[in-house]
Amino acid sequence: MGSNGSKPLVMILGGGFAGIGAAQGLKHADADVVLVDGHDYHTFQPLIYQVATDLLAPSVVGHPIRDLFHEQPNVAVHQATAEKLDLESRQVQFAEMEPITYDQLVLAMGARVNFFGVEGAQEHAFPMYTLPDAMRIREHVLAKWQASDRDPRLVDDGALNVVIVGGGPTGVESAGAMAELYRANFAKDYPQIPQEKARLILVEGSASLFSMFKPRLQKYAKDALEKRGVEVLLGEVVQSVTPTRVTLKSGTELEAHTLVWGAGLQAHPLAASLGLDLQKGDRIPVGPDLSVAGHPEVFAVGDIAWITDTGTEEVLPQLGSVALQSGEHAGENIARMIEGKKPKPFVYKDKGTMATIGRGAAVVQFHGGRTMTGKKASLAWGAVHLALLAKGEDRAKAVVEWTWAGFTHERSGRITVHTDEE
Ligand SMILES: Cc1cc2nc3c(=O)[nH]c(=O)nc-3n(C[C@H](O)[C@H](O)[C@H](O)COP(=O)(O)OP(=O)(O)OC[C@H]3O[C@@H](n4cnc5c(N)ncnc54)[C@H](O)[C@@H]3O)c2cc1C
Repeated sequence: MGSNGSKPLVMILGGGFAGIGAAQGLKHADADVVLVDGHDYHTFQPLIYQVATDLLAPSVVGHPIRDLFHEQPNVAVHQATAEKLDLESRQVQFAEMEPITYDQLVLAMGARVNFFGVEGAQEHAFPMYTLPDAMRIREHVLAKWQASDRDPRLVDDGALNVVIVGGGPTGVESAGAMAELYRANFAKDYPQIPQEKARLILVEGSASLFSMFKPRLQKYAKDALEKRGVEVLLGEVVQSVTPTRVTLKSGTELEAHTLVWGAGLQAHPLAASLGLDLQKGDRIPVGPDLSVAGHPEVFAVGDIAWITDTGTEEVLPQLGSVALQSGEHAGENIARMIEGKKPKPFVYKDKGTMATIGRGAAVVQFHGGRTMTGKKASLAWGAVHLALLAKGEDRAKAVVEWTWAGFTHERSGRITVHTDEE
């Protein structure tokens, strides 16, 4: 497969924020845009912990990729997994379809969880990164409560305890959401099981949560979690994991049948196969126009890329808004190049860094250093994240589900449906 010869073929690998942004940036380009993703849905990652804790249905957080391009006839979508890239011959090979030769390429495959070689983590930890990850956590935790109900001895063995690793946004948001599920919902579902025997423990290696935020916000987050019944262990590092125990480097052994991993990322493994000089976490360094050194026809955007903001000269974090904006910019630059114009340097529009801890508890830090906490911050978080959702109908669904849960404290998805039964 390849371009039909009359128009350049722009290949986008990945349909996350970055890939979707790139395709949208090419909306008016005279090109054949081919977007390939291993899944047939776009994942709204910032809300997957709400799927893991039953607040949102998977269909709010995963949206069919094809549906996003009904109004953009220059985009063709394929569900396939890129397995091999050759930047010299400009060819991509896939697991499930014929190779495609491109004229321009956008690398937007995101990142993978990094277990940092912790013993047993690969086999026994539950990463919080993809939609299937979130659904696995949800099913596993529900199963532990059902099993403990049938056999109360499991409670004393730590079946209901959850250790969450990582004091960044993923870990803190997961711990806060898990606390609301436990203390508000499971407390009523299983009144015979004392909540003190269902411990939630957040483990962070450094001396504070939320290293990217000001100390005031770090303290706010710790207090808010503790108020919700989460134990926060700072300066502790996980050394090994088994299905029922988590051992810390300090020697402490925690009885817990669930370890949620929210601690680190590594760029997609294909990045390391390209023969490029990579940055920390195997991220692909890009120039001001987001192209890869020595390959003006190849762009890297989102979590897979090491992007230096031309406005501040700072390396941008792996965030949804960075992915969406860098993707759009790369798409627009390719469109410019196709028209014979020069690409433009990328400048990130920072709307503030934010994270939510639970109902009415969130933190926001704006670029100039101003901070916000509590309900106001929660509303700001909601507004910024709703704007990132792919379509108006997803926004509506999320608002309805959040509002419903906000009024009723109800998480309606606490059921297990086995597809393998009669
Ligand atoms: C739990 C959690 C909470 C977060 N919270 C926030 C937040 O509050 N705010 C914020 O701004 N950011 C947040 N982030 C970060 C944000 O979600 C990421 O920065 C963003 O999703 C990166 O977008 P991306 O398009 O680069 O990668 P991804 O979203 O990971 O998309 C990559 C896509 O590539 C596809 N793909 C991968 N490999 C292949 C292959 N070989 N072939 C074909 N397709 C492939 C994948 O299926 C996927 O669809 C959070 C992340 C997590 C995990």
